[in-house]
Amino acid sequence: MKTFDVVIVGAGIVGLATAWQLLRRRPGLRLCIIEKEQAVAQHQSSNNSGVIHSGIYYKPGSQKALNCLRGYRYMLDFCQEQDIPFDICGKVIVATDHKELPQLEAIFRRGQENGLEGLRNISPEEVAETEPYVQSVAAIHVPQTGIVSYGTVAQKLYDLCVAQGMTALMGEKVTDIRDRENEVLVLTERSEVLAKQVVTCGGLYADKLANMTLPGNTIQILPFRGEYYDLIPSRQHLVSHLVYPVPNPDFPFLGVHFTRMIEGGVEAGPNAVLAFQREGYSLWDINLQEMIEAVQFSGFRKIVGKYWKEAADELYRSASKAAFVKSLQKLIPAVRAEDLVKGRSGVRAMACDPDGNLIDDFLFLSSERTLHVVNAPSPAATASLSIGETIAEKLLEKETFA
Ligand SMILES: Cc1cc2nc3c(=O)[nH]c(=O)nc-3n(C[C@H](O)[C@H](O)[C@H](O)COP(=O)(O)OP(=O)(O)OC[C@H]3O[C@@H](n4cnc5c(N)ncnc54)[C@H](O)[C@@H]3O)c2cc1C
Repeated sequence: MKTFDVVIVGAGIVGLATAWQLLRRRPGLRLCIIEKEQAVAQHQSSNNSGVIHSGIYYKPGSQKALNCLRGYRYMLDFCQEQDIPFDICGKVIVATDHKELPQLEAIFRRGQENGLEGLRNISPEEVAETEPYVQSVAAIHVPQTGIVSYGTVAQKLYDLCVAQGMTALMGEKVTDIRDRENEVLVLTERSEVLAKQVVTCGGLYADKLANMTLPGNTIQILPFRGEYYDLIPSRQHLVSHLVYPVPNPDFPFLGVHFTRMIEGGVEAGPNAVLAFQREGYSLWDINLQEMIEAVQFSGFRKIVGKYWKEAADELYRSASKAAFVKSLQKLIPAVRAEDLVKGRSGVRAMACDPDGNLIDDFLFLSSERTLHVVNAPSPAATASLSIGETIAEKLLEKETFA
């Protein structure tokens, strides 16, 4: 049986950033990554909006704020060093109704508290200078926001780690993790490996992996699908950069927005639909066992009880293009249904507690020899290199690596 210093489960951007940060600090570390898919970043890490977030939204001092601000710098440096295309194109957050002004002001103050430079409150006339089709009553211009392909970043991290000797077991699902006296045994469908330390970065299955060594864990992942439409080429002039609404403060989602993509094209979305399957990329993907598990979880029942109207509205907007277009027209009235074609979708892993609270911040749970990344929603792609650094430093401080 092979023995490693560290085994990482999950080759999404968080697992790969952790691997890269470990090898940077400790070249020669015996490192193994295990991934159930045949290729890296098949789930959240490539099915996302590709936005390099500035950190404007997050509570000062939170894991999200700290890691997003630091991760932002690391991401730009990494892309520059590795010749990965990115564009710091900036974004506008626009209020389309006077009722949204207090929330817009709160976001501005947060951005200032988080130390963002160059933030500006701008008038509808100033919005029109860069985004002539956008309707607003007031807006914030965030110059730091950018775009990148996180799938490309993840692939590059993987290539660099493999070149440095990392073992990759691709297409192998981890079925159990057993924390023994001085080592951890990791079982997959095909093999068994031993490790001094195990880190799990399982995204939509983060809770299942955590439960393997933390049986008392009460947190469960709920999947929220985000669907996109593509703006047809002849109408892409309607959007210059990134256009976001003022988010509803009751939800951890930013609201459907327009994003210019680094590979070209403009996407509109994503919505946030409670999915019937963790890796359920379409409305019709249903996994009965996962649905039963969700219904048995008090957190799910409480969320549905509290937000059934919003959940039903999102389901309706998922099924009805007209409803989706109506939300987009609040930002750009000129956009029409025939300008949009159905695009891809991604599923967000959102950790929920038994009382029905979606956990807002990043969450890590650990035992002596295992560390589980239990909640790494947006902006974890932006923050990945910082999250990876924190985990790497924590692990390498351990006596076993002295
Ligand atoms: C629609 C959408 C839009 C988003 N937009 C942005 C954005 O613009 N900017 C931003 O910063 N963030 C964004 N995010 C968030 C970001 O994509 C995620 O926070 C980030 O990708 C999480 O990375 P991860 O590695 O934790 O998870 P994932 O990428 O989901 O990777 C987890 C991996 O673990 C593997 N795995 C799970 N269970 C097992 C097992 N038992 N054995 C082996 N392997 C296993 C999975 O196959 C998967 O490859 C968005 C997310 C979504 C869904």
